[in-house]
Amino acid sequence: MSSRTAEIRVPPECRKMIRAGALVVLNHSGGKDSQSMTILLSRIVPRAQLVAVHAPLGEVEWEGTVPHVEATLPAGVPLVMAPVSSGKSLLDHVEERGKFPGIRQRWCTATHKRGPIERELRRYLNANPRFGGRLINCLGIRRDESAARAKRVPWRRNERLSVAGREVFDWLPIFDLSTGDVFRVIRDAGQSPHWIYRHLSRCSCSFCIFSSPEDLRRAAELRPELYRQYVEIERRIGHTLSPSGTPLPELTGISPSGSAGGEDAMALGSPRSWSAAARRPLARRNSLKSPCPESGAAQGSG
Ligand code: SF4
Repeated sequence: MSSRTAEIRVPPECRKMIRAGALVVLNHSGGKDSQSMTILLSRIVPRAQLVAVHAPLGEVEWEGTVPHVEATLPAGVPLVMAPVSSGKSLLDHVEERGKFPGIRQRWCTATHKRGPIERELRRYLNANPRFGGRLINCLGIRRDESAARAKRVPWRRNERLSVAGREVFDWLPIFDLSTGDVFRVIRDAGQSPHWIYRHLSRCSCSFCIFSSPEDLRRAAELRPELYRQYVEIERRIGHTLSPSGTPLPELTGISPSGSAGGEDAMALGSPRSWSAAARRPLARRNSLKSPCPESGAAQGSG
């Protein structure tokens, strides 16, 4: 798909809701997918019906993410921040639970993104009765990202939020776009993607459970202090960030002090002595794709 044809297919029911004045929510993580979705939707939805929402992840988010979201929003589109109401960080929750999020127990997205975003959407609709409780919740999810995402339905009623006089639909406007398409959309709009794409393949938490070993290595180089915290937490709780069960120093080849390799990883405690149950083949780990959408009610990465 070329940049000229990177257009959004609007389902008839969605078109009808936009014409009827529904609120259109741009879930924006700061990643390329939500940025390109924002550009494309701002061309077809009246500005007065648009609002962006971002779930800030604080210390684990890449520097400059919120300013990037702000700088790339169309003029006049408000940005609603959706922090965790307890004020606790993702790492606080890891320590409390004694484990990192996992493939099947991806509480990081539910607790730090979906929950706070849904809370803010309910508040926003209540404070703006002109939308009549109608909301189109847009997520930058693409079918190319993974086999699981390819099965997603691009337009679907959100049953959980469609209560108490609200009518809410989830829409995946860029579902059919390729990675090349989204970067072209950004470039053709005269914008730049988040700076982290110069170093990593995804814009997610700096250390994400779905990051490739190469992205984790680059993140460790870019954020040595945060990396040290993750390694110390892994050691303290006896559970690894990587669902493979492989400790970070072994995955990245970087010790928290910055010197290379396995000897330092050994000094932190032999990986062999860690929970055997948590260890699964690295090959499986490498095949994982992020199911954390870079936008939205599960805003995420991409
Ligand atoms: S980016 Fe990764 S670690 Fe962060 S919330 Fe999403 S899935 Fe969890």
